[in-house]
Amino acid sequence: LLALDTTAVLLGNSERLLGDMDAIAGDGDHGRGMVRGSAAALDAATAAFERGAGAGSLLAAAGDAWADKAGGTSGVLWGAGLRAFGEQIGDTETPTPDVLAQSVRAFADRIASLGKAEIGDKTMMDALLPFASSLEDRISSGAAAEDAWAAAAADATTAAASTAALRPLKGRARPLAEKSIGTPDPGATSLAMVFTAVGPHFT
Ligand code: ADP
Ligand code: MG
Ligand code: MG
Repeated sequence: LLALDTTAVLLGNSERLLGDMDAIAGDGDHGRGMVRGSAAALDAATAAFERGAGAGSLLAAAGDAWADKAGGTSGVLWGAGLRAFGEQIGDTETPTPDVLAQSVRAFADRIASLGKAEIGDKTMMDALLPFASSLEDRISSGAAAEDAWAAAAADATTAAASTAALRPLKGRARPLAEKSIGTPDPGATSLAMVFTAVGPHFT
């Protein structure tokens, strides 16, 4: 619940930045969509909490609300990913580091299978896949979950910034691909921001 609260506040503060970034080659609604999605997710999670739902079911319900209310490609993908994350993490209070890494992988796999974007297509996958791999590597080599998460988030932030050099091969920015060169992908940027902010609530 705190992670979703943090996410909704962060995205509320970043609406303009993300919208402006999406307006360069896309339709400019990425900030709006992320705000609507994360606010709906927080409402749904709060309602689930009041019904006594555990963490995993709460996150799954939040994902459904996100997909439903955000509008746009990124909302559908975030919502489905969040549901997969919740299903994998389960209703335990404190997931082990391995379960945490597996849950992030489930989030990434669900988005990959729906969106079918690959590394280098200039989408959120360009931040998400480096995050998931970095987290797995660090946790399997014995790093503490909070250090592993923070380092993986730093890797995702670097990877998101590096998308500036790419041409979009998926999504709404593709027809204006040339215009997008020099600006990072909005979806990769927001994903790195959210993963950076929520770390303390999962580790
Ligand atoms: P829309 O493009 O429908 O207006 P948004 O503006 O909210 O939706 O989201 C745009 C972001 O969605 C892009 O910056 C990109 O990161 C992500 N995206 C678009 N298509 C895909 C895809 N097929 N797979 C993964 N991510 C995608
Ligand atoms: Mg858009
Ligand atoms: Mg749109």
